[in-house]
Amino acid sequence: MSGIDDLPPLREVIARYDLAPKKSLGQNFLLDLNLTARIARLAGDLAGADVLEIGPGPGGLTRGLLASGARRVLAIEKDPRCLPALAEIAARFPGRLQVIEGDALAIDPLEYLQAPIKVAANLPYNVGTELLVRWLTPQVWPPFWDSLTLMFQREVAERIVAQPGGKAYGRLALLAQWRADAKIVMNLPPEVFSPPPKVHSAVVHLTALPAPRYPADPAVLNMVVAAAFNQRRKMLRSALKSVSPAIEDHLQEVGIKPTERAEQVGLEAFCALARSLKAAR
Ligand code: SAM
Repeated sequence: MSGIDDLPPLREVIARYDLAPKKSLGQNFLLDLNLTARIARLAGDLAGADVLEIGPGPGGLTRGLLASGARRVLAIEKDPRCLPALAEIAARFPGRLQVIEGDALAIDPLEYLQAPIKVAANLPYNVGTELLVRWLTPQVWPPFWDSLTLMFQREVAERIVAQPGGKAYGRLALLAQWRADAKIVMNLPPEVFSPPPKVHSAVVHLTALPAPRYPADPAVLNMVVAAAFNQRRKMLRSALKSVSPAIEDHLQEVGIKPTERAEQVGLEAFCALARSLKAAR
């Protein structure tokens, strides 16, 4: 593999560029290049794809993405201290790594990327969830990305892939699974990060569906799911009273028992309810 083998180990890079991890930026770095190569492979076949990486830090995952054959990597990093380390990687992969310094929440990467586009990131968890929700709720569908391969704190990963019937099941599961296939593809203990975070982590792989899994108006679905889970312990007939005075009729029409709680209702039934409510408007 050209380029990657003559780059220095990440510990050396961190020492050389004085990249003492900053808590305020959620910096828990992955230093094991075998592990970052494995995570890069979880993003699927990258040959012929542009990859958007958010938060490359010293570049462990970036190296993996380039080595697994990504056509180009666009990396957005908020911490300017990381730029020299990333420049060193860019020099070894001419024309294939572009780094933008800035806040991923404030930058539109699309002007720099060409389809097919895959996203890969090990991000601070709060930024990761916010970006995931944005990526799952664009104005138009299908989205700009074919797949997302994202590291989350394990509890958040479990909320993304959750099925009805448990505490983890809620808006995030419904949002993700309505528009994508989502699965946990790797679990990671705290010790593989430097410094180790307090929690376990997991990589979630999401593949965009060409169209949402079941028809529904996004605004109505979002409204009904939000109302249902805001009062998740209540029976749906009372949790959803504010949504429509005739909510019991709508629930019955689509085969949901009005005495059920949000946690017990699957995605298909929520979509049917959203359609029934929309038709009555
Ligand atoms: N990808 C590297 C790795 O796996 O070792 C670093 C991971 S570290 C958990 C998160 C990275 O995201 C840090 O480099 C941090 O500076 C960067 N970051 C934090 N907030 C960001 C934001 N809003 N936009 C872009 N990068 C951000």
